Amino acid sequence: MEVRDKIYIGGAWVPSTGKGTLEVIDSNTEEVIGTIPEGTVEDVDRAVTAAADAFTEWSTTSAEERSKLLARAAEGLGARTDEIAQMIAREVGMPLSLAGMIQVGLPTGVFADSAKEIADFKWEEEVGNSLVVREPVGVVGAITPWNFPLYQIALKVAPALAAGCTVVLKPSEVAPLNAFALADVLHDIGLPPGVFNLVTGTGPVVGEAIASHPKVDMVSFTGSTRAGKRVMQLASETVKRVALELGGKSANIILDDADLDAAIPGGLFACYMNSGQTCSALTRMLVPRSRLADIEARAKAAAEEYTPGSAFEPSTRLGPLVSSVQRDRVRGYIQKGLDEGAKLVTGGAETPEGLDKGYFVRPTVFSNVTRDMTIAREEIFGPVLSIMPYDTEEEAIEIANDTVYGLAGGVWGGDKAHAEQVARQMRTGQVDVNGGSFNPVAPFGGYKQSGIGRERGKFGFEEFLEVKSLQR
Ligand code: NDP
Repeated sequence: MEVRDKIYIGGAWVPSTGKGTLEVIDSNTEEVIGTIPEGTVEDVDRAVTAAADAFTEWSTTSAEERSKLLARAAEGLGARTDEIAQMIAREVGMPLSLAGMIQVGLPTGVFADSAKEIADFKWEEEVGNSLVVREPVGVVGAITPWNFPLYQIALKVAPALAAGCTVVLKPSEVAPLNAFALADVLHDIGLPPGVFNLVTGTGPVVGEAIASHPKVDMVSFTGSTRAGKRVMQLASETVKRVALELGGKSANIILDDADLDAAIPGGLFACYMNSGQTCSALTRMLVPRSRLADIEARAKAAAEEYTPGSAFEPSTRLGPLVSSVQRDRVRGYIQKGLDEGAKLVTGGAETPEGLDKGYFVRPTVFSNVTRDMTIAREEIFGPVLSIMPYDTEEEAIEIANDTVYGLAGGVWGGDKAHAEQVARQMRTGQVDVNGGSFNPVAPFGGYKQSGIGRERGKFGFEEFLEVKSLQR
């Protein structure tokens, strides 16, 4: 049981002004594994004041100095990989076999990459008679979700600090313990007081206070489109810069000439990774009608290899969902798929056998899903794949783009150049061609209601910079 009874403000662990606490639950067992403070509006004000006070000095430190501190943060996180991986396997339910690499390795890499990024960055350029200089945007409010909790924190905190911004972080109340571990690391490496602050609590209180605070210059949010819209609305009162990384309903187009031996298992993994709780999950598989029966059979076989089980069983490929709320929500969507007439290929809304404790859901595949069905339109955030047949390639592209979202996508085809042509026609921020491997420094973010701005690498770093022109 991990009891964290303080928040981190101005370089010190201090009590919240409120008395409330929030429980952290093990998604595998439903046991309480920790408690955190339920922060208040006053806590946010104290944290923002500390960040604003620290900004002048931090923003004028040399890039080299900041780079060294970020590299040390990467080392500090790396040294705690096993402990944090276990923590997140409990909180989120990602199998431990993947959690070390994905849930801790990726965020550690983000700190290391940010350290390198600033060392090489061109801060000034001449444009005619002007000198154009890049400066940190100011105090950044970061609001993050639970699905890749430390990674999503790192994608904001590391580049913001690299740019010379100061930060107030509100992590998800559902998976917050890793954020405390990060605060410990940043404290231990000697980050100056006030440069990084942590206030835990709920979105409607702490999150909204950050989005509204007049001294927060930029709010960077990852989570649902619903909450993202609210954040944007609140931020507009003080014309803050807003970065939003929101939901998706991404399509995976299987072309006529695709190698199904690779495409179908690859497509299932791209949908089921982290039990489907991934904003870029490829949840709509668009397939040529002529190959539908074959693809259904292959998808069923591939899905049934994802036996649900505890994140701590070495053989588990599909852990639990994060919470009872998410489990019930996902089962509700499966039921809706059945009610609206989709064909159930495998899975279903019932509790998986022998898993009465923990938030488990059956790996599910629907076929003959049509565009108007709820499971074709709404983000489910669970292990549910919707197979949608198409008759022509033009129709496939049209179905892929027929969504309010535009985060990710996939194309599989025997002719790679042609597959790339199809990828270019998809209105999304990323497309993986033939299972193209994950690139941690490629820009990531959404078109349409999937968000505003980009994270990762050079593009993610530049989000935290202002541009000033000096005419000479
Ligand atoms: P939320 O969008 O509610 O949570 C994300 C973060 O925003 C959390 O820190 C949350 O706080 C905070 N938040 C919630 N409401 C507000 C608000 N009014 N103002 C400011 N901050 C707020 O996501 P949920 O956890 O409710 O998940 C629901 C659905 O959202 C999922 O099923 C999925 O579809 C989508 N989602 C998408 C993600 C993505 O990566 N794009 C990530 C997570 C969810 P709190 O700690 O109180 O929850």
